[in-house]
Amino acid sequence: MTYIPAEKLAADAENVLNDLNARTEPLTPKDRMAIPMQEMPSQDPMVRRSNMEEVAIGYTPAQARIEAERCLQCKTAPCVKGCPVSINIPGFIKAIAEGDNKKAVDVIKESSLLPAVCGRVCPQEAQCQAPCTVGKALKSVDQAVSIGRLERFVADWEREQGLVEKPTVKPATGKKVGIIGTGPAGLTVAADVRREGHDVVLFEAFHKPGGVMVYGIPEFRLPKAIVQKEIDTLLAMGCELRTNFVIGRTRKITDLLEQDGFDALFIGTGAGLPRFMNIEGENLVGVYSANEYLTRSNLMRAYDKERAQTPIFESEKVAVLGGGNVAMDAARTAVRLGAKEVHLIYRRTEAEMPARVEEIAHAKEEGVIFHFLENPKRILSDEKGWVSGVECLRYELGEPDDSGRRRPIAIEGSEFEIDLDTVIVAIGNDSNPLIRQTTPGLDTNKWGNIVADENGKTSLSRVFAGGDIVLGAATVILAMGEGRKAAKAMNEMLAKD
Ligand SMILES: Cc1cc2nc3c(=O)[nH]c(=O)nc-3n(C[C@H](O)[C@H](O)[C@H](O)COP(=O)(O)OP(=O)(O)OC[C@H]3O[C@@H](n4cnc5c(N)ncnc54)[C@H](O)[C@@H]3O)c2cc1C
Ligand code: SF4
Repeated sequence: MTYIPAEKLAADAENVLNDLNARTEPLTPKDRMAIPMQEMPSQDPMVRRSNMEEVAIGYTPAQARIEAERCLQCKTAPCVKGCPVSINIPGFIKAIAEGDNKKAVDVIKESSLLPAVCGRVCPQEAQCQAPCTVGKALKSVDQAVSIGRLERFVADWEREQGLVEKPTVKPATGKKVGIIGTGPAGLTVAADVRREGHDVVLFEAFHKPGGVMVYGIPEFRLPKAIVQKEIDTLLAMGCELRTNFVIGRTRKITDLLEQDGFDALFIGTGAGLPRFMNIEGENLVGVYSANEYLTRSNLMRAYDKERAQTPIFESEKVAVLGGGNVAMDAARTAVRLGAKEVHLIYRRTEAEMPARVEEIAHAKEEGVIFHFLENPKRILSDEKGWVSGVECLRYELGEPDDSGRRRPIAIEGSEFEIDLDTVIVAIGNDSNPLIRQTTPGLDTNKWGNIVADENGKTSLSRVFAGGDIVLGAATVILAMGEGRKAAKAMNEMLAKD
């Protein structure tokens, strides 16, 4: 991927659109496949390295029209099968091609509550865009119709035009539902349950709602104002929000059901417990979990050096350990917080990296130094107990493991050192054990995730769960989809009471 300035992309699109508009014959599938795929305009890498503003700028109206014209409107719609919430993708793209953005966003909202979020952060290349006929015919998923960019375009258009409507709330039923956690799973349940006229109280451990969308995913990938807008809509619908409220400490699940008058509960507490490598030196000063590092920057706004109440240590040489989206977010945040060198250390090769291709490309453009087939053996310290570097081993790939990826094997005697002052561990997250430990009778599996059936029903009567707390660390769209299913089952249960 090479960086193309936004102005050039916009000018090229105007020319392509003029040609399309000048045509008198309808477009054949061959014509559609010859239309150039529209790249996402983004901030110049050299400029965005030192600001927190969103990297991707969004399609121009001309780009959106052109990209929509690339869709073949396949009868079998393989893209829909790749979407975890089965959005009518050809339907919304057709509306864009016809110039009806409002209809397009309404079609998406039949299945997805958060299109402005999902259009930005969904791993489309592994979901809806993977089976797209255009991508298959052009032999590259990068050439598939850019479904996510189009979703984002219409969601932003609706918000910017001030057309987002507050959903209608049915007359009060007198039933009360508690939602624990305000990530995408909890917010989705809140909207769907409130619409039916039930009272909704959202409990959030942090001082701000939004879950990972606010404390984890950085501003430069997902502006917080977009998430806040969704929360404002819920509040305008009459949902009550109680922040700094830790269920399992402030009140327990059993208190809510037995003493506080809740008729049903949804647990959407996510997977916020960081995993560590369990190597020597992990408790040195200067070692962070990616969650802590990102929370300090995003939620506590440590990057706003003039005004932040909780400043962050000014690192010069940072290593991020891991190869997923969380690792990319941490590395790109470290660049923006002013580190001179940011190393990303991953024990497999780029091909096995779970992070999105776009995030890897953006990290490279911003100067992150990638180390493949390397992994720390121990973290080194100076005489005061501060991180001074890592000792790494080199790796080679062996046979595939349970994940289907080739197993990394350490090469004996290959030790070498990198000088650093900060290490950020980004190797995955588990669920927080608090609710599990304080709720008798709530079944969990061997990883500590809550066990729920296909409707989100747990082993406890009137208690539902969904999102990362059930799936393990997953995605925004899957959390939202789980929330939708659980809300439907909760509404059905409450209607029968
Ligand atoms: C840094 C990072 C980047 C990511 N990037 C992407 C991406 O690009 N695309 C993508 O699709 N997914 C991404 N994910 C994953 C995605 O964000 C999650 O799968 C999704 O947010 C899960 O939603 P959830 O509603 O289950 O939980 P969460 O979003 O984790 O929200 C759970 C909420 O519950 C609160 N909570 C926890 N315990 C309690 C308690 N006891 N009482 C009250 N409140 C509690 C937490 O404070 C939190 O606000 C990323 C994750 C991280 C960490
Ligand atoms: S598979 Fe691709 S071309 Fe076919 S309908 Fe879906 S987006 Fe359009």
